[in-house]
Amino acid sequence: MVIFAKDSTKLAERRRSMVNKQIAARGVRSALVLEAMRKVPREKFIPDSLATRAYDDAPLPIAEGQTISQPYIVALMTEALELNGGERVLEIGTGSGYAAAVLAEIAGEVDSIERHASLAEAARRTLKQTGYDKVNVICGDGTLGRRSNAPYDGIVVAAGAPVVPERLKQQLAVGGRLVIPVGERKGHQALLRVTRVAEDEYREEHLSDVRFVPLIGEGGWTEAGDAAAARRSTTSNLSEDARLFAEAAEPFDDIDTADLAPLLERIGDARVVLIGEASHGTSEFYRMRARITQALIAQKGFNIVAAEADWPDAFRINNHVRHIHGPAADWESFARFPTWMWRNREVQSFVDWLHDHNEKLTEQQRTGFYGLDLYSLYTSIDAVIEYLESRDTEAAEIARTQYSCLAPWQPDPAAYGRAAASSRYRDCADEVAAALTELLEQRLSLLRNHGQESAREQEFYLNAVQNARLINNAEAYYRTMYSGYSDSWNLRDSHMFETLDELLTHHGPKAKAVVWEHNSHIGNAKGTDMPARGQLNVGQLCRERFGNEAYLIGFGTHTGTVAAADDWGDEMEIKTVRPSLANSWERLCHDTGIPRFVLPLRRPKSPNLSRLLRRERLERAIGVIYRPRTERASHYFNARLGEQFDEYVWFDESHAVTPLATQDIADYPDTYPFAI
Ligand code: SAM
Repeated sequence: MVIFAKDSTKLAERRRSMVNKQIAARGVRSALVLEAMRKVPREKFIPDSLATRAYDDAPLPIAEGQTISQPYIVALMTEALELNGGERVLEIGTGSGYAAAVLAEIAGEVDSIERHASLAEAARRTLKQTGYDKVNVICGDGTLGRRSNAPYDGIVVAAGAPVVPERLKQQLAVGGRLVIPVGERKGHQALLRVTRVAEDEYREEHLSDVRFVPLIGEGGWTEAGDAAAARRSTTSNLSEDARLFAEAAEPFDDIDTADLAPLLERIGDARVVLIGEASHGTSEFYRMRARITQALIAQKGFNIVAAEADWPDAFRINNHVRHIHGPAADWESFARFPTWMWRNREVQSFVDWLHDHNEKLTEQQRTGFYGLDLYSLYTSIDAVIEYLESRDTEAAEIARTQYSCLAPWQPDPAAYGRAAASSRYRDCADEVAAALTELLEQRLSLLRNHGQESAREQEFYLNAVQNARLINNAEAYYRTMYSGYSDSWNLRDSHMFETLDELLTHHGPKAKAVVWEHNSHIGNAKGTDMPARGQLNVGQLCRERFGNEAYLIGFGTHTGTVAAADDWGDEMEIKTVRPSLANSWERLCHDTGIPRFVLPLRRPKSPNLSRLLRRERLERAIGVIYRPRTERASHYFNARLGEQFDEYVWFDESHAVTPLATQDIADYPDTYPFAI
């Protein structure tokens, strides 16, 4: 390339301006990096035809379909290495040689590996011409690193990897840093910094979201782009723990076609199958859970679906799917925060399926849909009174008086708890307990007078009595909210378990239930640090009651998007899920390189896997609230996966649920549960 003196002065000016406007202005502070960026002539590392664009704020094409990185990204990655000068550094992906020259301005020794021989050769030439002779350009597969010259104080990878290559981590000096983009092959990656804090300990940080060409090689992607094959073919390159997981995993490509036969066989004769979710807003969790549930209903005779939803709202779904024309309700179902949790396209598809499936069956054979939660105090009061009104107006009047004790708190039931906790206000415990007892007794007299009830009448009675139980427990729940979080948590989970138990009793000795709740409710609490906080959960109570006849299935994801809010009552947002933390179960699953799989945990295939599953690691729980900034403190807890679940379903990348807008459901019949 021929550059005239006038042009080169202009270019030097543009370089300075580029450093100020594109790099310093975006927060790069290291004086060493800024100085290096001011010195290296980027124009010399690009094709002549692009010389005028040398200081554009963008990557530019070079030969072999590759790119020279955007100047800001080169600066950001170099700064992330935290070099002081004089270190030994390895770069993977020489490309044009530009970033290697920037590194050479700071480091004492630079090795740079490029897989394309023609690029390696051209970079060698340019580096020599520009005076960076000390850069050692090697042609080869950089995912293997360069053991003969390790350890390195810094390693920087200029191409996107599916996982952090194990060999690169091993070639870091203790205290050394590896900066690498990890994520999708053609799309976004997370720029990670992995610091080797001790011989066997690495700390991982998420620095930014970036977009790079793929890292192709043994520890990266295959040329064809098959991540799974790339990763599976390198099982020998995985950590021992990730290899154990990869070997035990049953991969699947698609939720609709996944072969569930092995899972169904493992579930065997279980009476209760609890299926979790690692967030309340992830489509893949809902869809896979629905698919497993459909198989359990159609092939194994399950006839109850019980969800972490409000009883009265879920009961409208029950009426719909069982083709019962219940009384019209004057409230909107699933209208309380968080609306997207049940009012979404994924749940609607399942409800449609169940409605059609039940149609072919007799009333007794039909599967019901119920809610286990206790947040519906006032709609439950209405439901009990409504039931009594059509059967015994005097009893309805008594119940109305009993429940009127709670009436002042309708706009904010939590305020009832606050008032009841102060000695100035008498609580309503006796009144609501009396209402429940009377309802239970009233049924006996109804039975005495009318004899055997129809299945439909039994279902209406179940609805009334469960609402009365709910009012009882919700009254206690709001009171205990003020004595401690663990007490109210336990009350809520005990209520959900009690409701499940009542449902099983109601449906007779052959009843089988699928439970849909968050992982934190359905995974056995004893396999986590919950007992240390004095907490139990539905999974634990089921394990204690049903033993191996309870089958607990957890879900997890590494990254993607999720529907969640910043705070209770806030607007729903589609948020980005941060890549999972090192030392989490999620990261271990991610490191297998298999995008989707089912992992059997109850009978581990080897003693090593069994030992691994009993060890403690972090696990992420996203509820209706997700706060990525304080993620470690607000969303991670410790768990022993093998004690918590019998099975784990993995989606490396996942997406937010699709909430239902009211117009989406406008054409449904009035009885449809989502209709207003
Ligand atoms: N740092 C370069 C620069 O300043 O021009 C830009 C690098 S470019 C974004 C990524 C480079 O990584 C490409 O040249 C590509 O051929 C190379 N690459 C991809 N996989 C590789 C591997 N396994 N080993 C070495 N180089 C690889």
